[in-house]
Amino acid sequence: MKKFTSDVVIGLEIHVELATDTKLFCGCSTHGDDKPNSRTCEVCLGHPGSKPVLNKKAVDYALKLGLALNCKVAPELIFSRKSYFYPDMSKNYQITQYEIPLGEKGKLRLNSGKTIGITRVHMEEDPASLVHPSGMQKSSYVLVDYNRSGDPLVEVVTEPDLSSPEEARDFMKQLILILNYLEIFDVNRCIIKADVNISIKESNYTRVEIKNITGFKDIERALNYEVERQKKNIKEIVLETRAWDSDKGITFSLRKKEVEVEYGYIIDPDLVRIDLDSKWISSIKKDMPELAEEKLKKYEKEHGSVQSMAVIAKDLKLAKFFEEVISDKKVDPKLASHWVELELKRVLNYNKKKLGDTKIKPKHVVDIVKLIQDKRITEQTGRRLIEKLVEKDFDIEDYVKKEGLEIISDERGVEKVCKEVIKDNASAVEQYKNGEEKAIHFIIGQIMRKTKGKAKPDLVNTLVRELIK
Ligand SMILES: [Zn+2]
Repeated sequence: MKKFTSDVVIGLEIHVELATDTKLFCGCSTHGDDKPNSRTCEVCLGHPGSKPVLNKKAVDYALKLGLALNCKVAPELIFSRKSYFYPDMSKNYQITQYEIPLGEKGKLRLNSGKTIGITRVHMEEDPASLVHPSGMQKSSYVLVDYNRSGDPLVEVVTEPDLSSPEEARDFMKQLILILNYLEIFDVNRCIIKADVNISIKESNYTRVEIKNITGFKDIERALNYEVERQKKNIKEIVLETRAWDSDKGITFSLRKKEVEVEYGYIIDPDLVRIDLDSKWISSIKKDMPELAEEKLKKYEKEHGSVQSMAVIAKDLKLAKFFEEVISDKKVDPKLASHWVELELKRVLNYNKKKLGDTKIKPKHVVDIVKLIQDKRITEQTGRRLIEKLVEKDFDIEDYVKKEGLEIISDERGVEKVCKEVIKDNASAVEQYKNGEEKAIHFIIGQIMRKTKGKAKPDLVNTLVRELIK
């Protein structure tokens, strides 16, 4: 048994639904018509005589995840029957991997740099969903919907290396980041659920499992609740399985913990063993995208370390956009990263839009940043341009010329405006002369407004101070 050193010990078992179009062992669709039991066949319902056929795409996806989590890949693919009687399993067994999981002994790095061991990564089919018409406690009957039955899942089991609810939450975050990069999980339709194991030092690490928690926040909430509950009831802690009630914010006992061996696993005789040969693995490896961690390292190596690049690397869509911007080689990558991370995101957030929902293309950002870099427009003008792109597509260069948005570099012209504003704001000038620094910012603001943001701010600053002296 592992010797624990932290006060709280947490292990996770995460079920990720893979974004394939068809189920794991039949051709039924994994999404679409959601009328109950409309996406089923004799295989996913487990009719006698029906034979499962493995979906290769699901294996490809699971392999990608296993490799991304640095796992040792099994030499062959074997599926087992996990026998139990429950209405969500029409065959009375679930097809899963037990003896030899697809991947073993992997690791994942948290944001803090701490490494969490991955015990195993294996494939299995999702059971059906049970529908309690008047809620879990009150319904006198239950409905079964087999649409979900047979959806491909991959289960990621960690070592009990996590030592706080925050770490568990960060683990989920890093895992989702990898799933997004691999493009094997569709955040809009696929389910991700976690079972968590948690124990504390005071109870001599007696393990309690909480089943089926969805959502990052709820995983952290459930764990925080459970740590407190265990500390308060030290004498009553027993090996058991609990459930999480998100509305009430509590966990409650489901059953005393069963152990794996009680399920009576047998190797599925209907599914042939499949060699995971080196040709297959290397073709998957060739297909693997660069992951967030590698991307950031590349950015830092090529362009130096900037905070905005770290943020960009954590978002696949943003990273793709950014790479298109800098591939043009016209703009300084550091300045470009600032515009992608800060200004582009600001405009999208403000308009509650996602990248791709607007007319903003990498070319636009290239043009704006280039104009700023060449000191032809001010940053303020740049910000206004990017805001305008939310509504319509236009050629930046043409627009800037047509609307006369270029910086007023003619010093005399700026000086004229400065003089006018100083004349019109005698009281502010007086306040500044009396030592109120704030007053000069007001005056500069007025000048910028009058020049529609086209005067160079540092020029205005110098001129005003000289003129008032
Ligand atoms: Zn089916």
